[in-house]
Amino acid sequence: MNHFDLLVIGSGPAGRRAAIQAAKLDRRVLVVERGRRVGGVSVHTGTIPSKTLRETALNLSGWRERGFYGRSYRVKKDITADDLRNRLHLTLEHEVEVLEHQFARNRVTTVRGEARFTGTNTVEVEGDAGETESFSADNFLIAVGTVPFRPDYVPFDGVSVFDSDEILEIPKLPRSMAVIGAGVIGVEYATIFSALDVNVTLVEPRSSMLDFLDEELLEDFTYQLRDRGMALRFGSKIESVLRRDEHVCEIHLEGGRTVRAQTVLFAAGRMGATDTLNLSACGLTADHRGRLKVDPVTLQTEVPHVYAAGDVIGFPSLASTSMEQGRIAACHALGAPAQQPPEYFPYGIYSVPEMSTVGMSEKEVISRKIPYECGVARFRETSRGHIMGLEAGMLKMIFSLKTRRLLGCHIVGEGATELIHIGQAVLNLKGTLEYFVENTFNYPTLAEAYKIAALDAWNRMGAAEKLVAAEA
Ligand SMILES: Cc1cc2nc3c(=O)[nH]c(=O)nc-3n(C[C@H](O)[C@H](O)[C@H](O)COP(=O)(O)OP(=O)(O)OC[C@H]3O[C@@H](n4cnc5c(N)ncnc54)[C@H](O)[C@@H]3O)c2cc1C
Repeated sequence: MNHFDLLVIGSGPAGRRAAIQAAKLDRRVLVVERGRRVGGVSVHTGTIPSKTLRETALNLSGWRERGFYGRSYRVKKDITADDLRNRLHLTLEHEVEVLEHQFARNRVTTVRGEARFTGTNTVEVEGDAGETESFSADNFLIAVGTVPFRPDYVPFDGVSVFDSDEILEIPKLPRSMAVIGAGVIGVEYATIFSALDVNVTLVEPRSSMLDFLDEELLEDFTYQLRDRGMALRFGSKIESVLRRDEHVCEIHLEGGRTVRAQTVLFAAGRMGATDTLNLSACGLTADHRGRLKVDPVTLQTEVPHVYAAGDVIGFPSLASTSMEQGRIAACHALGAPAQQPPEYFPYGIYSVPEMSTVGMSEKEVISRKIPYECGVARFRETSRGHIMGLEAGMLKMIFSLKTRRLLGCHIVGEGATELIHIGQAVLNLKGTLEYFVENTFNYPTLAEAYKIAALDAWNRMGAAEKLVAAEA
């Protein structure tokens, strides 16, 4: 039997990063992947495909230029599903090639097939033709990720009713779409299809969406969605989803309202892909959502030589954080020191417009009873914004009145997911308002919004700070 120092199940961001880390530590590592090619959900159905689709939609629709040329401006008049797919396949091919090369360069052994535990230190891998091979290891990393949640009441058919994996293969661009689930994935796809002039209704049984975001940011975002005609149906339980015929699907909501659309995308939740792992053989059980519990510092499960990382352990379920978890798990398993990441990591939502956030929201600052002040900048106040024809977009920073430290940074608008890293650096390096006020920023840039927001806070803080001092 082949023996390894670390056996990784799953080649998504967590598995990949763990395997490379183990190889860099000069250990024998095996990656088992049941998919046709390596890369995981991130490369094949999640992060990269959805972001490529977004980029294609924005480019072909001329979305970024509409501030100048009006809402009817289009780069390509009749955008087809093939237009969307072509760029997708090229990008994915490139991603996989880079990854395969990375594995080969670092001498990471990979095997194709589905892994299942047969003991505490053994795994059996079954290939497509039913052939099996057994492997043993001192340590294991379960990095199997998730699969879309597909409740029985939704008539999935891959033609009119899709889950978030199937939507990438949509045969034809529909005229209308109902998206069920206003989580990150639902909101991203709803806004991408809306940018392609599909008539979108976003349906969410809860009364709000993306609760972890700063409320002011969310208000701005919601206004932009409504302004361009997206319908939001929040706060009603879904009673049924029906496919009337090829062109009409119906979603019946509690209270009697019906949403009609040509297609339905069900994007409400994902399940840990642990059902085929035969976890009991290694002494583990998953929760009702297929998730595993781990020590948040070491990433060990209840069975100490079995680690788990990535989406299978739940929040925050991001490719970015999964990679870090994979690295830390591999280091811990192989006895190498691993620096813990800082408390605050950025959250990027690639909706149209995009949003990104790091640190505390205003609500959180209030609940912690921290005296604070905010500074806000609108992108239309920056020269770069004028050049780009931006009508919307804002950046908000929250500062402590006592220490003047940055507590949170929240951005909605063009470039938000890139811009956030300035706020992240200042926040995690414990920087203060002065950083933004005293430093020179390139001009004209959107990053200048940091300076404008800081000056806005600075102007207000004078008076507020005196108040805190008087109360002390
Ligand atoms: C539509 C969508 C958009 C997203 N956008 C973003 C984004 O913009 N930014 C971001 O940071 N994150 C994003 N994510 C989340 C991101 O994709 C995940 O956080 C990330 O892929 C999780 O990585 P992972 O390593 O846990 O596993 P995955 O990427 O889920 O990979 C797990 C792998 O394990 C394999 N596997 C499962 N069971 C077995 C088995 N028994 N044997 C062998 N192999 C097995 C699977 O085939 C799969 O390849 C998005 C997700 C979705 C669905």
